Amino acid sequence: MTEISSNLEIQARLLELRKLLQRASYEYYALDTPTIEDSVYDAFYQELQKLETQYPQLITPDSPTQRVGEKPTTQFVSVQHHIPLYSLENAFTSNDVNTWQERCQKGLERQEFLDSVCELKIDGSAIALTYEHGVLVRGATRGDGTSGEDITPNIKTIRSIPLRLNLDNPPDRLEIRGEAFLPIAVFDEINQERSQQGEALFANPRNAAAGTLRQLDSRIVAKRRLDFFAYTIHFPSPSPRGTGEMDGSQNLPDISSQWQALEFLQQIGFRVNPNKRLCKSIQELQDYYDFWATERHKLPYMTDGMVMKLNAFLQQEQLGFTQKTPRWAIAWKYPAEEMPTIIEAVTVQVGRTGTLTPVAELRPVLLAGTTVARATLHNSDRLAELDLHVGDTAIVRKAGEIIPEVVRVLPELRPNGATRFMMPIHCPECGQPVFKPENEAATRCINLQCPAIVRGAIEHWVSRDALDVNGIGEKLVRQLVTENHVTSVADLYDLTSDRLQTLDRMGQKSADKIVAAIAQSKTKPWARVLYGLGIRHVGSVNAQNIADNFPNVELLARSTPEVIASIFGIGEEIAQAIYEWFRQEDNQNLIQRLQVAGLQFVGEKKDDRAIAINPNIAGKTFVVTGTLPTLKRDEAKALIQSVGGKVTDSVSKKTHYLVVGAEAGSKLEKAKSLGVQCLSEEELVKLINS
Ligand code: NAD
Repeated sequence: MTEISSNLEIQARLLELRKLLQRASYEYYALDTPTIEDSVYDAFYQELQKLETQYPQLITPDSPTQRVGEKPTTQFVSVQHHIPLYSLENAFTSNDVNTWQERCQKGLERQEFLDSVCELKIDGSAIALTYEHGVLVRGATRGDGTSGEDITPNIKTIRSIPLRLNLDNPPDRLEIRGEAFLPIAVFDEINQERSQQGEALFANPRNAAAGTLRQLDSRIVAKRRLDFFAYTIHFPSPSPRGTGEMDGSQNLPDISSQWQALEFLQQIGFRVNPNKRLCKSIQELQDYYDFWATERHKLPYMTDGMVMKLNAFLQQEQLGFTQKTPRWAIAWKYPAEEMPTIIEAVTVQVGRTGTLTPVAELRPVLLAGTTVARATLHNSDRLAELDLHVGDTAIVRKAGEIIPEVVRVLPELRPNGATRFMMPIHCPECGQPVFKPENEAATRCINLQCPAIVRGAIEHWVSRDALDVNGIGEKLVRQLVTENHVTSVADLYDLTSDRLQTLDRMGQKSADKIVAAIAQSKTKPWARVLYGLGIRHVGSVNAQNIADNFPNVELLARSTPEVIASIFGIGEEIAQAIYEWFRQEDNQNLIQRLQVAGLQFVGEKKDDRAIAINPNIAGKTFVVTGTLPTLKRDEAKALIQSVGGKVTDSVSKKTHYLVVGAEAGSKLEKAKSLGVQCLSEEELVKLINS
């Protein structure tokens, strides 16, 4: 991952990678508590493998590339596997899969596609089961592939593993391999319990399964409800296809392919994953992969990819194994959501509202199917938490549609002399001091003339949901602001075609078009204008709601936060932001200039009656009692509500007005005793129209 050239540097990097992978491997296999994501482990592993291929003289026997797994711990009796349990080669792209097929074809001197069985790669722990005369005699972990641990009592707690095979006259010995796993629901339950008991949580179902299998107390194992999918059967030798000796194997059906083996495993009592497919073309492999890329999330257990195996046993035998993996099989993993990469620099962006966001400039890395070169670092609190230094190796995450972010850094890979990144105290755009409110995480530039804020304001103003001005994109905005043609959105309305034509690569036709588009924006309704002003928290839906209730800008500008917040759906935070926005002189001037330019600051009236929020009434509580001279009680209520008042049924200390008609009873008395102001119908109407 790092760019290295000299021999010494290569040796140092190899050492660093081996150390890191060895530690990770120990934590993963021996302690069942990984500290890095599998994809991150794989990325470092690949880097090591690549370097070792380039410099084979530097391979050491203790390199993680030279062994299958971690040596088992000594809690259990160690057992030698009669047939080693191999790992699988990994493919990450369809290209890798094609290469694998071609390699197999070449190895077998064949031209055509070799039929392959696709299986889901279950994210569990491989185990080896030995049956003698049809009875389960031993269950063992994979360990380092040649020797594992005898965990028979634990294996016997797994209900989907038959203790006796459903097979008449079974052979002396049968070896079955498969994946022991924890269903996701059980995994969640276990972790919940562990958290309640203050115990460390399992990182993922795979480690939870591995940890459970190696529990010394099999009663705990039984409680954990492990499950098992079988995928490999090793027949006694000589194979059932041969003549067979008198060991019972002659009673086995003639099985010559992985597909038949899976069916047979099911017949003799094992659970076999039903989502298998026999593929007859590269396209079918791709289809299987694509289908499960999304469908796998609906399964009750974890899968991290698919496994492809040549179907014909004869072909498998002919191709054989490398030191670590079968040549006739490969795992195709789903794109990683977390990967390691180098932080080459940190830049700071200033947003439309002046918020400073630190951004990590990354050495490009493939993440969840896309190349990622930048990741957000959120704010200064997050930076401090990460203890981020420029040059650090960082783990970057991108899940689904989420913006990539730096999850953490690996201090053990920090280059000497790397410096900690600190948030600037001056705005990188305008050089003015920045400001960090005590109770907020964000650092802000509060200079309204800051080019970044001006650019942001203009980009927002011309955007589709606001004034929808065609032809003004990010690049043009930058040009206009940099060359001082525009310092606020109001300046857009002073632009002429001639002036635009002084810009680099701006012809008359384009300039005319832009001027026309700007002019067109003057017809856009008040709600769009309000949204375009870019007041904090005021999105397009809120802007529409507010504009519906305040028919012109003057009423809104003079209003109080309480009145604004009395609109259904508008919270106090928005109301306060609007109130503060209109208190700033710069903003008042802006409105004035935009009004002169001809923008719409008046809404269309919906009916003849006043629909405006009336500040005398909005937010106030009314009770109506007795018979009013002209209005029915419901009509009076509706009238009060239409201008922002609240109507309740009973009088309390919180009541502002009691509207009183003839024959009012106890409500009037209570209002008098509490000092609540009483209004006649006439006075109410006057108040509303005031
Ligand atoms: P692997 O997990 O990439 O693939 C081989 C394993 O796949 C088999 O042993 C078996 O357990 C499993 N498998 C699931 N379904 C299967 C099926 N249908 N057919 C055949 N096999 C199936 O390889 P591995 O050697 O077990 O482990 C290496 C992986 O472990 C690495 O790629 C890495 O992701 C992870 N690892 C992670 C860390 C860490 O710190 N996070 C450390 C060491 C290893």
